[in-house]
Amino acid sequence: MIIDFEESFNTYDENILNNYGVFNYVCPTCGAKHSFIRHGTYERNICYSKDFKTTETTIEVLRLFCKSCEKTHAILPNDVVPYCIYSFSFMLDVLIEKIINFKKISEICEGFNISFQLIFNFLSRFIKFANSCKYVLMNLGVLNNSGNPKEVLASFISYEKTNHNFSIKYFFYSSWPFLMSKFQNILPCPIYVGGTG
Ligand SMILES: [Zn+2]
Repeated sequence: MIIDFEESFNTYDENILNNYGVFNYVCPTCGAKHSFIRHGTYERNICYSKDFKTTETTIEVLRLFCKSCEKTHAILPNDVVPYCIYSFSFMLDVLIEKIINFKKISEICEGFNISFQLIFNFLSRFIKFANSCKYVLMNLGVLNNSGNPKEVLASFISYEKTNHNFSIKYFFYSSWPFLMSKFQNILPCPIYVGGTG
């Protein structure tokens, strides 16, 4: 799997799906450069937030085949959290409503038309990442070592609102997609993840 941090799902079709030219990615499995050829597509649903409302769409994801190691890799745009139907910005907006805007759970459920279980799922997902998130924020110089999970979340949200690149920074510090919980505790990880951006 390769996450292209330069492309959102708004630019994905134009720059990735319909690219019949060269792909400059480095293969996350074998490290080969310029060894990819197109290898079919598959459909993927994604829920994202538009003006703090839930919107769902289907994107067509391109797979590439590495001629060097013969492995295939899906190319994902920057807003997708692998193995999660909800986009990164969707989770972020829900967390902002809860933590920064102090909205009641019932109001958030109604606003986004989601269940309260989902809100707690996002919160617990974030808490699982709080330590590594703190490490990245400390490296970015925006948080000191004393932050508890709530302070980490507030600092992360404030950083993201200004810079819009936290998931890229997170990936390059930790070699893991931010908020991707699947396979997190499995060693060795059964998937290969590479990033560009
Ligand atoms: Zn390869």
